[in-house]
Amino acid sequence: MNLNKLLETIPKTDLHCHLDGSIRPQTMIDISRKDNISLPSYSISELEKYVKVSGKCDSLKDYLNKFDIPIKIMQSYDNIYRITSELLEDAARQNICYMEIRFAPFNHLQKGLSLKDVINASIDAIKDGRKKYGIASNLILCAMRHESPEMSKDLVNTAKDFIGLGVSAIDLAGNEADFPPEIHREAFDMAKYYGLHRTVHAGETGNPANIIKSIELLNAERIGHGVFAFKDSHVVEYLKRNNIPLEVCITSNVNTSAVNSYKEHPVKSYMDNGIIITVNTDNTTVSNTSIVDEFKYLVKYQNFTLNDIKKVIKNSIDYSFADKKDKDSLNFKFLSFVNDMHI
Ligand SMILES: [Zn+2]
Repeated sequence: MNLNKLLETIPKTDLHCHLDGSIRPQTMIDISRKDNISLPSYSISELEKYVKVSGKCDSLKDYLNKFDIPIKIMQSYDNIYRITSELLEDAARQNICYMEIRFAPFNHLQKGLSLKDVINASIDAIKDGRKKYGIASNLILCAMRHESPEMSKDLVNTAKDFIGLGVSAIDLAGNEADFPPEIHREAFDMAKYYGLHRTVHAGETGNPANIIKSIELLNAERIGHGVFAFKDSHVVEYLKRNNIPLEVCITSNVNTSAVNSYKEHPVKSYMDNGIIITVNTDNTTVSNTSIVDEFKYLVKYQNFTLNDIKKVIKNSIDYSFADKKDKDSLNFKFLSFVNDMHI
């Protein structure tokens, strides 16, 4: 089997995928027509200019503007259910066996839904996705950096009622340049106390100190991106010593100009240095990518070998926020594939 075929068939995970950044463009058009929401265009090729990045943005802020239309349409139970369900269907087609889907519930209260309604819509799709597409998944709920610490605490208080029912973790997302992690410290302390897992976007823009702050002050168990760790060798050592995995999303980092090119991304040197690496999409629509594409880029531009790929997938299973039963089943699926294919 050639490597490209193998990348398609090998059981995979995606631990860092934003629901609002991963909506089928046709679905945006369908929902907008149904709900009388105005779009800049109703042709897919035109609409894609507003919701996808081609090449590079000027900044992370510019990238974040691509979420305006998705958030407008994700304001009802049916729409959130459909979007979650389609994401799982698309993931299962790529042989993703386990997915952690993230989004910020507070962005979806504009038309009368409560936080619980929003979470339930997505969880119902997750439950059905297991039966319909054979894919296991959990939600990671994002607190937003620019929002108040009280809102983050409200989010954690709601999330705790869904532990074991489809919510596995909380995250901190949004504009890293202007809002440091410590603002939301109390919410993350509460999350730890209640038994929610924690991941934090950090070191996605230029500041490597945010990575250590996120681990020490917010109890982060994983770091979203962490691209800029290389700027401070202490941060690299810290990640390694404390076994903190990075959720790497290489195309997204090219889009936001965090790195100049796929070739210049530090992921391979991190891995060779002993940092735990996972490979993820971030936003399949906004970044115009898929998990198979992400692996192909790593092979093409970062000289990833088959052993690197196997290691990354095994890391992702072991450091996922799945429960023991799902982890055992994922490990069984992955290891059986590897043994059967003699790879
Ligand atoms: Zn992200």
